[in-house]
Amino acid sequence: MISKRLEPFGTSIFSTMTRLAQEHGAINLAQGFPDFDGPREIFDFAREAMDQGYNQYARSMGLPELVESVARHFSRAYGMSFDPMREVCVTTGATEGLAASVLGLLNPGDEVLLMEPFYDSYPALAAMAGATVKSLVLESPDFALDLDRLQALVGPRTRLLILNNPHNPSGKVFSEEELQGIAKLCVAHDLLVLSDEVYEFLTYDGARHIPIASLPGMRERTLTVSSTGKTFSLTGWKIGWVVGPEELVAATQAAHQFLTFAVTTPFQAAMARAIEHFGQAFLGELRSDYLERRNFLVDMLREKGFGVSVPKGSYFVLADVRPLTEKPATEFAMDLIREKRVAALPVASFYLEGQKTEGERLLRFAFCKRMETLEAARERL
Ligand code: PMP
Ligand code: GLN
Repeated sequence: MISKRLEPFGTSIFSTMTRLAQEHGAINLAQGFPDFDGPREIFDFAREAMDQGYNQYARSMGLPELVESVARHFSRAYGMSFDPMREVCVTTGATEGLAASVLGLLNPGDEVLLMEPFYDSYPALAAMAGATVKSLVLESPDFALDLDRLQALVGPRTRLLILNNPHNPSGKVFSEEELQGIAKLCVAHDLLVLSDEVYEFLTYDGARHIPIASLPGMRERTLTVSSTGKTFSLTGWKIGWVVGPEELVAATQAAHQFLTFAVTTPFQAAMARAIEHFGQAFLGELRSDYLERRNFLVDMLREKGFGVSVPKGSYFVLADVRPLTEKPATEFAMDLIREKRVAALPVASFYLEGQKTEGERLLRFAFCKRMETLEAARERL
């Protein structure tokens, strides 16, 4: 009964791997969610909000307190100014922000540019909007951007480029030079950009996150999407947002009002306070905790014989299975779950059908887990 548009996408790999992990009693390093809670103060903020009557529908584009906090965050972190009431739309996680933006902006027959490997929702969203996908494979291990090849994909119907920076699953943080190249191309061809920056605070080894919207000519053509899920380790709260020029955010809002209308009110109120309350010291600690876990996971996977390159962003490590097996990574992932009771994510799901061989070399391991969890995974492997 599934529509023709959605049928090719089946069940998300995240649900599939988490179900298999549960069935086999495996440690779940497949799905990217922390196995620890975010700051307890934020729970109090939510309880207080409920006690204070933040319990009915919020303003559709977001609770005033939260859109103001988001605008202040952009100004503090990146020196960019946005009108909180017109240029911010609060969404049910980044997932809905991406969906509402794609559905609000695209017409059937428009083309969307993607880079593979991509977060799995992007091609499904393009399909829901009746758009077609053109995509550039970023090649492992360094996932460098070949601008000429990207440029060659642009045609008269190309309307939108979806960027993910820092990048899931590779952990790549795009360099300023790469971002400038993309920006020039988008300006030259009058493309819009939907920039998924959910890992904006998870960068390591001196890598600096630069929002593409901050580059010349880009503010007016970019929607930036982020989410508190990663920053506050509360992925289940699903508070995200889309920020951009009024005209583009109006397109996101046009879809958002009919997808969910508004996002849970007390959790928006709690996140507004969390953004103000947790500053540089908190983010510095988050980064250094994750750096320690990244290093542990990289060392562990190398010790076990995987081919590993060190990610500069996100909370994922890619591991090349070829030194260990001739099997495709998807099959090897099943062996790991069954025999070692450790779940990793087969990266083939982040590629289009014709490009899966590239992904069949790679498994993604998440390090957004307690050290005890990572240590237990090391024992089992
Ligand atoms: N984009 C990327 C690149 C992600 O990795 C994720 C989730 N891990 C999302 C979007 C979805 O974010 P949310 O949970 O806020 O919907
Ligand atoms: N974004 C998370 C990941 O990459 C999972 C999101 C989901 O389960 N849909 O693992």
